[in-house]
Order: sequence, then C-alpha cells, then structure tokens
Amino acid sequence: METEDVSSPLDLDTPRWRRVVLKLSGEALASAASDETIDAEVVDRLAAEIASSRSELDVELAIVVGGGNIWRGSYGAMGGIDRATSDHMGMLATVINGLALQDALERKGQPTRVQSAIQMAEVAEPYIRRRAIRHLEKGRVVIFAAGMGNPYFTTDTPAALRAAEIGAEAVLKGTHGGVDGVYSADPRRHPEATRFDEISYMEVVARDLRVMDMTAIAFCKDNGLSILVFDIMTPGNIRRALVGQPIGTLVR
Ligand code: UDP
Repeated sequence: METEDVSSPLDLDTPRWRRVVLKLSGEALASAASDETIDAEVVDRLAAEIASSRSELDVELAIVVGGGNIWRGSYGAMGGIDRATSDHMGMLATVINGLALQDALERKGQPTRVQSAIQMAEVAEPYIRRRAIRHLEKGRVVIFAAGMGNPYFTTDTPAALRAAEIGAEAVLKGTHGGVDGVYSADPRRHPEATRFDEISYMEVVARDLRVMDMTAIAFCKDNGLSILVFDIMTPGNIRRALVGQPIGTLVR
C-alpha cells in the first residue's frame, strides 16, 4: 500500500486531471435523515460543490448518475419482473436524477446538459459523443443519463465507457454510506479492515473487492483509466479529488 506522489496537500488550485467523469450514485441524492427519494438540500449541496470546483479549477466535468434511490433492475427481477424491463425502469430512474441535478447545477449558474442514452427528445438531448465533448470544451457540465441504454448493466460500466469515449483521464467514483475508499474487507463488518491509498485493477479483481462492477474494472484496466474511489458526502471532497489530494483510493 504505497502512497502515490500527489500534489502538495496545500495545493488546492491545480487540477490533477483535465477532463473527468464523476460517477454519482442515485443514493447520494437521497436523504440520510428522512425517506426523501431526492433530497433537495443534498442535491443543492452537491451541485454547489460541483459548480464551484468546476469553474474555479477550469476542469471539464461529465457526470454519470445512477438511479438506485428510485429503482434498481435487480429489485424487480427478484419480484418476478422481466429483467430487461426492470433495467429499463432503472435507466429511467437515472434520467429523473439527472434532471434534478441539472436543475440544481443551473441554479448555481453552471450551464448543464443532460444527454440520455434512451431517446426522449422533449426532456434531454440524445447521447452524441462529439456533441458531449463540445459541451465540455465550452465549460458545460454534461450529465449522462439512462446508463448505456442497455439492460444487464449498472451505471458503473457506462461511467467507464463514457469516460473512454470522451477521452477523460479518470473516473471519480463517489461513495456515500461512510466508506471512504477501497478496504481490505467490508469495514462495516470488519472494523480491522484497512484502506488502500492505491491498488491495482488486478488486485481488486483477485481479492473480489467491491469497488465498482467487475465489468467496469476490467474496462478501466483495458483502457488505462484510473478510478478514484472517494467519499463524496464529506464537504470539500470533490475539489480535493480533482486536485489530487490524498483522499480515498486510487485504482490503476
Ligand atoms: N441500468 C441498466 N443499464 C445501464 C445502466 C443502468 O440497465 O447501462 C439500470 C440497472 O437496472 C440499474 C439501474 O439502472 O440497477 C440504476 O443504476 P445503478 O444501479 O447503477 O444506480 P446507482 O447504484 O449508481 O444509484
């Protein structure tokens, strides 16, 4: 477990990456305190942090948003709903979250476009890779919704896929439930577990560590995409992640 050579802990102004994809779970938008599916205060706080970090650091930021606060394909499949149908429901859930996030970002003055992998022209642009890149170059945040448009995936894999497609240098995987990186075992059940500062893709696979879906890990490995797993709920961490402060775990 070696610590990577990152920028000085005091340097909060120099971005480590020029273009990144932030993977935001649907549950990060829900309320920890109440049963709100989308908690306006939480979304507002995240949007404020995303907007200020993006503009102050001048990084190009795309977001892949999940839908687990509303629906996951596996829920329905367990209850007898056809798996592909249930996954379509999950993808639509990500669009709902994407619109909530877009609204909050734009209220912070951050121009934002939602691109959906499932066509719904009235509410979102279709996913068009070159257009997404153009938006990023103009300083807009691009939210990729509806995953990849294909069932049998979670949003981890489209986060990796879109990152490769748009030439992002890293996937920032924000966690929410108090686990602030990759541990040797589940720290909620094994208090003695230790957090890695850095770990290789192969070790993640060999130890079966639950960082991201294995499909996404394999994709990142094949395409040389670093993954930073970090706690997105701690205020200031999005900026810390973007400037390479030693937080979370870097998978590469
Ligand atoms: N989903 C899918 N294909 C994709 C992305 C997502 O079928 O490319 C569906 C899948 O059912 C998944 C749901 O959308 O469970 C919500 O995404 P995810 O579980 O990744 O949400 P998160 O856990 O990040 O909130």
